[in-house]
Amino acid sequence: MSAVQSDVLIIGCGIAGAAAALRLSCDRQRQITIITRAADPEEGNTRYAQGGIVTLGDDDSPELLVQDILAAGAGLSLPSAARILAEDGPRLVDEVLIREVGTAFDRDAQGRLVYGREAAHSRSRILHVGDATGAAIIRALMEALAGRPNVQIVTAATAVDLITFPHHARDPLAVYEPIACHGAYVFEQPSRAVQRYLSGATILATGGLGRIYRYTSNPKGARGDGLAMAYRAGARVINAEYVQFHPTTLALPDDGEGFLISEAVRGEGGRLLTPDGERFMPRYAPEWGDLAPRDVVARAIHHEMVEHGYPHVLLDIASVLPAERIRARFPTIYAHCARLGLDITRQPIPVVPAAHYFCGGVWTDAWARTTVRNLYAVGEVACTGVHGANRLASTSLLEGLVWGDRAARDIIGRWREPPVDEGQVPPWEEAGLEEEADPALIWRDIRTIQHTMWHYVGLARSGRRLARALHDLNHLREEIEDFYRRTRLNDALIGLRHSIQAALIVAEAAYHNRTSRGCHYRDDGKGAAAF
Ligand SMILES: Cc1cc2nc3c(=O)[nH]c(=O)nc-3n(C[C@H](O)[C@H](O)[C@H](O)COP(=O)(O)OP(=O)(O)OC[C@H]3O[C@@H](n4cnc5c(N)ncnc54)[C@H](O)[C@@H]3O)c2cc1C
Repeated sequence: MSAVQSDVLIIGCGIAGAAAALRLSCDRQRQITIITRAADPEEGNTRYAQGGIVTLGDDDSPELLVQDILAAGAGLSLPSAARILAEDGPRLVDEVLIREVGTAFDRDAQGRLVYGREAAHSRSRILHVGDATGAAIIRALMEALAGRPNVQIVTAATAVDLITFPHHARDPLAVYEPIACHGAYVFEQPSRAVQRYLSGATILATGGLGRIYRYTSNPKGARGDGLAMAYRAGARVINAEYVQFHPTTLALPDDGEGFLISEAVRGEGGRLLTPDGERFMPRYAPEWGDLAPRDVVARAIHHEMVEHGYPHVLLDIASVLPAERIRARFPTIYAHCARLGLDITRQPIPVVPAAHYFCGGVWTDAWARTTVRNLYAVGEVACTGVHGANRLASTSLLEGLVWGDRAARDIIGRWREPPVDEGQVPPWEEAGLEEEADPALIWRDIRTIQHTMWHYVGLARSGRRLARALHDLNHLREEIEDFYRRTRLNDALIGLRHSIQAALIVAEAAYHNRTSRGCHYRDDGKGAAAF
């Protein structure tokens, strides 16, 4: 089968991949292929973002935004990256999201943009579309891309591995050359065939990894695929121990699990209470109270739960805002809870923390370049340095937009490298594999990864727990590799292999870093209940 050739291959079409594609498509000579493992091109973490996207509010400045990012990042955010975000970001929100693709952010009766305020922001500066901002943004971006003749979107296509030289080169002398990326092996789900997608430049935009944890706000596809592929290809990965836990996800059975109760609820005055109705945040963070940074709130809830054996805590907005205002400001949360029998205009919401955002990732420079030649990384899979040890709320959509745009501009400005000749890249070898993947085995292995990560590499970590995690995960990786080598591929099996790799990357980084900082919290010697 002949290979698919394009100038630029983008793996993933959330805000980061879509922003890159939009900018690249302005160069009509260039052929761009976007692949996504999902059947629906709008599926990904972006779609579920509720709170909004950061920009500059009325009495605001890039300096103030940088200050807030650096404070949240706990001394590990890269100041130059934060500055790029604060200076380029608001301009791109206006140029791309508002003017070019027409995202309808909420406005007041006079037509002025309405700015929300979220935890650890010193100003009101968050643009939103009700509480379904991500869905509105990705829909607008996809509609714009549909009109670009040089962009092809391939759905239900899962990247298995990056094609890198010397690893996949037929020429043995390629071993002396620096590592370079030439595209990816891609599993096309409808035909069940693995195809070579060759490209002059490749942009990794595969999002985060919340699904390697038992409790997460992330949708199914967030399995760390891009992180695992880049790591195997030899790219530098940094800050992988910094996994941010969202303090408040819904704690109702079945459909209620993992659904995010946006920070904006606390931004609007919502208060955290024990199941007995006592406020507890002022005890943990007297200065910020319920609007303390995420890691502080998440650990406070975790501490309350462990200390007192609570199954969850409560978030009360009902006694703070009138019912009409709650329904207008949080229509999605209101409707979701109502479907599950909970009226948030009258009752407090049961909540637990959950894995939410991956602050680390594939190292990139200011132009989204990784340490592998021709390979870019953008969005949640990348680590630009903006988020440091802890992400400031609502900055990740903006980071995807800014670095997606930057990757594209770098390629347009510097790149004219055609894809390698397909004769140089061996086709995928699957001859003789007859065994079908047993879904029971995949499901059980995924659950083992998720439980191990939750209990040993979660909100409170210790050397002993992390050593145990590494032992168990390494053993499981051997089993999974063996299973993978013997079995016909499908999307779930590819995801399982990526997930175990991603879990090991996070656990290793957490094990080696003994210093608590931001969302990496070690309680060695203090016991499970230490705060
Ligand atoms: C519930 C929730 C609420 C959030 N709220 C906010 C908010 O209010 N503000 C904010 O700034 N951030 C928020 N975030 C974080 C933010 O949504 C994400 O960080 C951001 O959307 C990531 O964008 P992305 O483009 O990097 O990845 P994604 O949007 O996750 O897109 C990843 C893409 O990669 C594809 N993909 C993955 N693996 C493969 C593979 N192997 N092969 C092919 N394709 C693959 C997926 O199908 C998808 O198209 C929230 C996240 C969640 C989960």
